[in-house]
Amino acid sequence: MHTKPGIAVSSGVAIGQAFVLGVEDFRIPKRFVSVDAVDAEIVRFRCALENVCREIADNEKLASDQLGKQYGAIFAAHQQLARDPKLQGEVEALIRDKNYSPEFALSRVLGQYAQVLQNLGDLYKADRAIDLFDLEKRLLAYLLGERREELSHLTVPVIVLAHDLTPSETATLPRKFVLGFATEVGGYTSHTAILAGALEIPAVVAVGDIVANVSGGDIVILDGIHGRVIVDPDEETLADYREWAQRARKVAQRLVSFRSFPSETMDHVRVQLMGNIEFPEEAAHCRELGADGIGLYRTEFLYLESNREQTEEEHYEAYRKVVSAFPDQPVVIRTLDLGSDKVPSAMPQFYPQGANPELGLRSIRLSLADLSQFKTQLRAILRVALLGDVRVMFPLISSLIELRQAKSTLSDVMEDLEDQGVAFSRDVQVGMMVEVPSVPLLAADFAREVDFFSIGTNDLIQYTLAVDRSNPAVAKFYNSGDPAILRMIQMVADAGKKHGVPVTVCGQMSSDPKFVPLLLGLGLRQLSATPHVIPELKETVRHLTIPQAEAIAEQAMKLELARDVETFLREELKKLCPDLAT
Ligand code: PEP
Ligand code: MG
Repeated sequence: MHTKPGIAVSSGVAIGQAFVLGVEDFRIPKRFVSVDAVDAEIVRFRCALENVCREIADNEKLASDQLGKQYGAIFAAHQQLARDPKLQGEVEALIRDKNYSPEFALSRVLGQYAQVLQNLGDLYKADRAIDLFDLEKRLLAYLLGERREELSHLTVPVIVLAHDLTPSETATLPRKFVLGFATEVGGYTSHTAILAGALEIPAVVAVGDIVANVSGGDIVILDGIHGRVIVDPDEETLADYREWAQRARKVAQRLVSFRSFPSETMDHVRVQLMGNIEFPEEAAHCRELGADGIGLYRTEFLYLESNREQTEEEHYEAYRKVVSAFPDQPVVIRTLDLGSDKVPSAMPQFYPQGANPELGLRSIRLSLADLSQFKTQLRAILRVALLGDVRVMFPLISSLIELRQAKSTLSDVMEDLEDQGVAFSRDVQVGMMVEVPSVPLLAADFAREVDFFSIGTNDLIQYTLAVDRSNPAVAKFYNSGDPAILRMIQMVADAGKKHGVPVTVCGQMSSDPKFVPLLLGLGLRQLSATPHVIPELKETVRHLTIPQAEAIAEQAMKLELARDVETFLREELKKLCPDLAT
């Protein structure tokens, strides 16, 4: 048994067999096969070789037909390598004589060849080394049975272990068969992590080396509460986790049974609890959990799931589904927040990344740079607004000019719809995300030009503390409880109050019950969170009075270190709702 610590990003515990996804650079551990399995392992290697040769032949034909014979020749060279009897003989000799696993034998042989070629220094020969790596990757993909496409063909429940999962890969995980996942990299508010919450899949990120050290089929406990992955657990640990999971299920059931209770404090102050969603199908689930509306619909996932631009009708249809779950409550549709890490894999050409993608052409900047896509989306939002209380929200606004440009595009779209005689609603509230430090600093100016604010703490923390939200190497510097973040939230809450502009918090901070007393104490009355935590948030709200929350906030604001703030809030939550404290 060995335990790998990581960052818990989606609560829950999963116990099951590992399904190991390959990485670009496979690192193959030195493994041996038993003597009586040698023949079967050699057959497995030959099958993989056969499959790879067939795949290369298909690629050769495709390249020749579509690009010309000279491109097909690249694959012919790969084919020649794959069919080299010397290479095959050497791999099989290592399996037979040294009992190496085919994976290890293969990387040994190909690695040695590649090294020799690279050391020759000649450019052409170094290129041939790249061909060898390519062949190795293809063969390993077959041998390990870990090709990414296979995720969609799962037939048994598994725990997925991967170096990383892109937001689109996560969005398309087959929920029925993925009990949980762990990645070697990632951060607390990376989009992959957020999606895990949406899919209600327990997840741990930033566990470091795991892909090369676990085999498909190994039993794994994925602890999404404390942030750890336990490989090959002993009986006692398994029994403890099973018992714990049963207890947690009971608490969750009890909380969900309170869904029809109002979300109000003990002194009867109403707190609006809304859901953050990525997929239209989640809206109905939010309703079941007792949400007061949708506070953040991340529409870019339409692109990330389908991997292409959406038509106006596709936008409309997705939004209609969401509004039909909440015809009488707010539905905040955020315009596309693409770019940076949220790039559909089939469309990378649209998003030049540069060295600092988080500071580059992303989000509202991208929408303003591609008005036709932006207008298509705005048309659909304005049309669907006829069906309910639809609000439009612009992401990552960093200056007044950007906000004004976005609003003026919205006005242009209204004029177009009017001219074309298309039915739509003008009565749409327009709000903005608060995610860049320039906004809290100028909150009063922005407040004059919007109907509402929504604080996106995920990005606000990233940009205020200069910490990449997805980078595990700096995860320890990414602290929601940092006093600078608390001050920023207070600035926005105060400006909102002064100018009559409602403020919501929709970053992951509001999905953590320990921050609820602090946020209420700072004056917030609207939170938007990952749907499945809404019952826990409601439980917290219902155990508090506003003076109590204000006292907690006052105390927290006096602390100098993020660590102390978080410890203090954790202790306060333990006193209020012992069931929820982890
Ligand atoms: C945020 O930044 O807090 C936010 C809610 O937006 P996203 O996580 O989609 O960037
Ligand atoms: Mg954001």
